[in-house]
Amino acid sequence: MASGSSSLMWFRKGLRIHDNPALQHAAKESNCVYPVFVIDPYFMEPDPNAFSPGSSRAGLNRIRFLLESLVDLDSSLRQLGSRLLVLKGDPGEVIIRCLKEWEVKRLCFEYDTDPYYQALDIKVKNYASAAGIEVFSPVSHTLFDSAEIIQKNGGRPPLSYQSFLKLAGQPSWASSPLLTTLSWLPPVGDVGTCEISNVPTVKELGYEEIGQDESTPFKGGESEALKRLRESIRDKEWVANFEKPKGDPSAFLKPATTVLSPYLKFGCLSSRYFYQCLTDVYKNMKWHTSPPVSLVGQLLWRDFFYTVGFGTPNFDRMKGNRICKQIPWNDDDELLAAWREARTGYPWIDAIMVQLRKWGWMHHLARHCVACFLTRGDLFVHWEKGRDVFERLLIDSDWAINNGNWLWLSCSSFFYQYNRIYSPISFGKKYDPNGNYIRHFLPILKDMPKEYIYEPWTAPPSIQAKAKCIIGKDYPKPVVCHDSAIKECKRKLAEAYALNKRLDGSVTEEDLKKLRRKLEEDENPESNTSRTRQKLIG
Ligand code: FAD
Repeated sequence: MASGSSSLMWFRKGLRIHDNPALQHAAKESNCVYPVFVIDPYFMEPDPNAFSPGSSRAGLNRIRFLLESLVDLDSSLRQLGSRLLVLKGDPGEVIIRCLKEWEVKRLCFEYDTDPYYQALDIKVKNYASAAGIEVFSPVSHTLFDSAEIIQKNGGRPPLSYQSFLKLAGQPSWASSPLLTTLSWLPPVGDVGTCEISNVPTVKELGYEEIGQDESTPFKGGESEALKRLRESIRDKEWVANFEKPKGDPSAFLKPATTVLSPYLKFGCLSSRYFYQCLTDVYKNMKWHTSPPVSLVGQLLWRDFFYTVGFGTPNFDRMKGNRICKQIPWNDDDELLAAWREARTGYPWIDAIMVQLRKWGWMHHLARHCVACFLTRGDLFVHWEKGRDVFERLLIDSDWAINNGNWLWLSCSSFFYQYNRIYSPISFGKKYDPNGNYIRHFLPILKDMPKEYIYEPWTAPPSIQAKAKCIIGKDYPKPVVCHDSAIKECKRKLAEAYALNKRLDGSVTEEDLKKLRRKLEEDENPESNTSRTRQKLIG
């Protein structure tokens, strides 16, 4: 490319300066660089009908996290002699308009495997190539190039973590240090008539501010991400001994894991830089844990789900998804609402759902418990419905990882031991017998004696009165009886698995309908969900 031309750096994820090959390339031999972020109504338009403040796709906590990340990015760009140009509208249209108006010769953006960006990028790339604009779109959101792994595997994604590891090997970039700082950026060129704004506030986007009590304690941005990374790896013993799923899901004052997921989601932290920092720690330790349980192993889980998600048509739904078991889940909106609104009557489950709403983050095992409870453990509600709630409320909401884990937890794919169910009563008790986590997120139960905190409906009326929490009035009775619900769920899953085996992956809508009818006819009246609901315990 001739020197003296302009580049457009399109930020979407990858909201960072360190290890950002697209930004580095944009800066090379350009006399001006336009760093652009487009506020996309698809994710950001307020939805007054949503079940909590936010847009239809993102809760306000994640929107705020993104805005904080943009403010931080803008401030870093300014230190390098540039700034962030914020525009609003359909990103494809906005970018094409900017390319034309600014006579851009080079367009740089991080490659994105999410279906939404795949479709968007085709449109923009088509325009750019017809207009003779160079496009540079490197893989830097993940450790590996998903397409390369799929190609190595004969065109299909590996479906187990171990086979993924074998195919992946060592990342090609890992042997040399990554570029983590920039000393300078070319200035921003003339922006012409394009409508540029500063990073908006949540109010300017049309949202009401929410109280501090409802806000996530995690602040967005690359500066926060790097600070958190440094704090996480300071204790080298902790890094070397990290072993998941060990770790306390009820720890909230000091979470048992890094809480770097929201920063990885938006690319405020490079997963490659995180990986390199971890391997540097390992080099100086006598011993360290290994995948799948180590911290590096966690990053590899992330890449695993990215690869399977990228190579599996309809990965985010049951129908038409060849790796997903076809199961006659129910569509019970009442049960779904009880789960989503933390009204199941099981304090462990409800406390986790409150943490989701308020913090947008929960420990991995806490996510296991509520996902299992909604689907194969107790309520038998479709995993896609739970996925939607997580997708909207998590600040680390990530298309590939979220769908992958919901497929896993609902025993629809990857994991098939549907007899192994998390108890909504005893699982949390193992870690937190006093129920401190429950008391924090469900203050209505704060005075319930520890003997009853996981099963408050068993507390005698006098104890409930003393604790100022009458079950059925101040806090709900259990929405289902766990003991009968698990039996029902297991029975349904056994039948569904048998059907999937018999029809060898070609279960139709009609087959599922028939099975649903049969399951209803065979239903044990004692464990019928609606009856179980009516004769609630307590
Ligand atoms: P750490 O244990 O410190 O791990 C470091 C990083 O490794 C994480 O930040 C994350 O990027 C990655 N990682 C860890 N566990 C997993 C995993 N099981 N699968 C893939 N990557 C992993 N994680 C998301 O980032 N976004 C989601 O939308 C998401 N949805 C989930 C839904 C369900 C039902 C379940 C069970 C898990 C989900 N997870 C999701 C995975 C996991 O729970 C979180 O990544 C993790 O709890 C984040 O906390 P951390 O950063 O402290 O993790």
